[in-house]
Amino acid sequence: MTIPLEVSLASILGDPARVLTAPQIVQRLSRDFYWYSPVLRKQLDGKSADVAVQPLTAEEVREILRYCYAHDIPVTARGAGTGNYGQAVPLHGGVLLDLSRMDQIESIGADGVAVCQPGVRLGVLEAEARKVGWELRCYPSTIVKASVGGFLGGGSGGIGSVTHGGLRDFGTVRAIDVVTMEDPPRVVHHEGEAVHEILHAWGTNGIIVRIWLALAPSVNWAQCVVAFDAFDRAFDFSERIATSEAWTKRLVTPFEWPIPSFFSPVQNVAPEGKALIFFLIAEDQRTALEAAAREAGGEVTFSAPYNGLRTLPLLSDYTWNHTTLWAMKSDPAYTYLQCGFDAVNARSQFAKLKQRFGDEFLLHIEFIKNAQGVVFPGAIPVVRFTTEERLNEMIAYCREIGVSVANPHVNNVEGGGRYRSDNIQLLAKYKYDSKGLLNPGKMITFERHSVGAPVS
Ligand SMILES: Cc1cc2nc3c(=O)[nH]c(=O)nc-3n(C[C@H](O)[C@H](O)[C@H](O)COP(=O)(O)OP(=O)(O)OC[C@H]3O[C@@H](n4cnc5c(N)ncnc54)[C@H](O)[C@@H]3O)c2cc1C
Repeated sequence: MTIPLEVSLASILGDPARVLTAPQIVQRLSRDFYWYSPVLRKQLDGKSADVAVQPLTAEEVREILRYCYAHDIPVTARGAGTGNYGQAVPLHGGVLLDLSRMDQIESIGADGVAVCQPGVRLGVLEAEARKVGWELRCYPSTIVKASVGGFLGGGSGGIGSVTHGGLRDFGTVRAIDVVTMEDPPRVVHHEGEAVHEILHAWGTNGIIVRIWLALAPSVNWAQCVVAFDAFDRAFDFSERIATSEAWTKRLVTPFEWPIPSFFSPVQNVAPEGKALIFFLIAEDQRTALEAAAREAGGEVTFSAPYNGLRTLPLLSDYTWNHTTLWAMKSDPAYTYLQCGFDAVNARSQFAKLKQRFGDEFLLHIEFIKNAQGVVFPGAIPVVRFTTEERLNEMIAYCREIGVSVANPHVNNVEGGGRYRSDNIQLLAKYKYDSKGLLNPGKMITFERHSVGAPVS
């Protein structure tokens, strides 16, 4: 007689309460924010794991993986399920490995490196770090909910990236311990360049169980909103602040009208018809920023010290991919793209896009420092969805005019735009998950029959 999966998992953990089988709960935990994409919604609605399990330690993760390897059961990792591309949606059932209870911060060292488990919420780590003079270098706008492990597995950057780059850059992820899907599963320490085997691989080639994350010295921040009559003037001013080393900033986000009209809770800072810039700027530079904004023809519509994530309004709640959420609330026909404009030619690229697509393509810029130290206009434009063909036309046109696109409407690591061209993530999958059981279907260049023999 075969023992049901949930019974085996309960006996492995010695705690049936951490094995979840109620269909509603398992289905809820099998979802993320893929529904931002009308394309992914069609593909992923209804997909679910068979059972969810909540380990507390790396040793428990190893035992779960040992069992699943022996029985050919797929395992999909989940942090908080705030990913946007169906990253944590199990395509082939099996076990949903909910890491949210592995939420211990081990230490925050005098060297500014935090050591923690993967389920620690980024907002908790930020608050704890600030108590001892540090803060996150970069974080997604989902900071309150998202986990450190999920950010490493599926995220890229966010608030802070204008100064510190993305997660991949400048040694921000110092080291990670990963549990492999083998017999027996190993805990493999990755340090330095080796962390790139695992970063943004969507949990397809190892389960992150311990993280060493470099922090930045904490800053007293302030929030400012500046309005301009026209987007090009807002862009000019925001670019000046973003690219100058003289300003200490964490967020520089210009939006074209009507995007600010979607931000219903903060309409008092969004004059009708105007482009806005949201800033997180050092408190001791706030007055200087206000003066510079006025001199450039801007109107300061909000300015106040920032007192952490409970501050209201919290401007970051309207930036990065929260912007898309507000747009979709206002009109469900909106969706988004993820673009990188050219640091030199951005203005002519904007003009070409507006000429071709008009209000179908609304500009929302996020300044980001790249690995070479150049601050460039990244973007999460809000786009109106009509058909998949039209969406693909927008993507193709962006690429034609030199605007890079990380396509958020695909459900595999390779198609998303942050796949490493040196195939390091795929090679790691052959090393650590030769049966292809970790989040199967998400790394599509992996072929199980060629175990140990990477495709060229
Ligand atoms: C409103 C909104 C705003 C967003 N803004 C940003 C943003 O500013 N910047 C940004 O980068 N992203 C952003 N995102 C995407 C997402 O919030 C982030 O990527 C976030 O860091 C994901 O964390 P999570 O804990 O929810 O991960 P999950 O969604 O649970 O997981 C993400 C991926 O990582 C894998 N994973 C999870 N834990 C582990 C682990 N321990 N080991 C290995 N793999 C693991 C999962 O299998 C999945 O593939 C946004 C999403 C939304 C909905």
